Amino acid sequence: MSETETAGERRTGGCLCGSVRYETAWPPLLTGVCHCRHCQRQAGSALSVLVAVPFAALERSGDLTTYEDGSEAGRAVYRKFCPKCGSPVFTETPDGMAQGMIFIKAGTLDDPKDLAPTVHFWTTSKQDWVVIPEGAALLEKQ
Ligand SMILES: [Zn+2]
Ligand SMILES: [Zn+2]
Repeated sequence: MSETETAGERRTGGCLCGSVRYETAWPPLLTGVCHCRHCQRQAGSALSVLVAVPFAALERSGDLTTYEDGSEAGRAVYRKFCPKCGSPVFTETPDGMAQGMIFIKAGTLDDPKDLAPTVHFWTTSKQDWVVIPEGAALLEKQ
């Protein structure tokens, strides 16, 4: 067995201006899409694609600003973004951190092409034109 086979895969990413960079273990624990209105506003888009990774397996550099948000369910959501270019990069939640897990905004990955979201959150506020692939788990309000 070669060393490349035994070493865990890593993946890198960063914000638009490059001030924030990170490297994480791969594959992620979970890949999901959030259709909540808060993610839509923060992303300026129809949805937010997230990968959950073990916090301990994430190395990050560069300054981040935290916006303390509340989820639509009333739980704390810490949205971390680059103060220079505004890219949303990480999201932390108390529940996630209790499980040692942090969410990466998947659009910031250097190579996001092969993502395969399996869960869709907050489908109650999904934009009508967005078609969810068959087989994905749907959570209306979470
Ligand atoms: Zn930046
Ligand atoms: Zn959301």
